[in-house]
Amino acid sequence: MSTKQTNYYRLNVGTIKFAFVDYPAPILAYNKAKPSSHKVVFMKDHRNRIWTEHAYKGDAVFGGMNYFDLLTRTHLSEARIQKLDCDTVEMGIKLFLGETKLYCKKNGETVEVELKYPELCIEDERLWRNRKPYMDLSGATTYPESAPGYICSCECECDYCLEYNDEMDRLSDTLSEMSM
Ligand SMILES: [Zn+2]
Repeated sequence: MSTKQTNYYRLNVGTIKFAFVDYPAPILAYNKAKPSSHKVVFMKDHRNRIWTEHAYKGDAVFGGMNYFDLLTRTHLSEARIQKLDCDTVEMGIKLFLGETKLYCKKNGETVEVELKYPELCIEDERLWRNRKPYMDLSGATTYPESAPGYICSCECECDYCLEYNDEMDRLSDTLSEMSM
């Protein structure tokens, strides 16, 4: 990401909500108390590179890679990126929203470039296909747990929670040893 001005925050970082392309559920920002948000997300690009996210923060970043940054870098060379008047995240948002289109020459004709969208998957095994993830810009995240009548499952046993709980146990052991 360059230091050029960005309008990234027009997307309300913290509540950027996508949906899985291979599973009928939104990708909710991780919240310890809401097990419905405890899903591992795999972001896969057209070269089948994978980024793994265990605790999505609603910021369009998966496994350390910003979705929109990746979308820009999928289509523009470093030389073209240097010439942009915005940063790569903002450019990716414009591409995603269709506010900017890319063109190339094919047999002497100018044609629109078909974008290759990174996928957001619950399964990591299939090869990449060009499936644009649905993005919901309606704002605040609502978790299914908030719906009336929802019965909360008790302790989540996803890998992330188990690891988190182990970590907490170790920490409290350490603290109690220190206070002895
Ligand atoms: Zn969990």
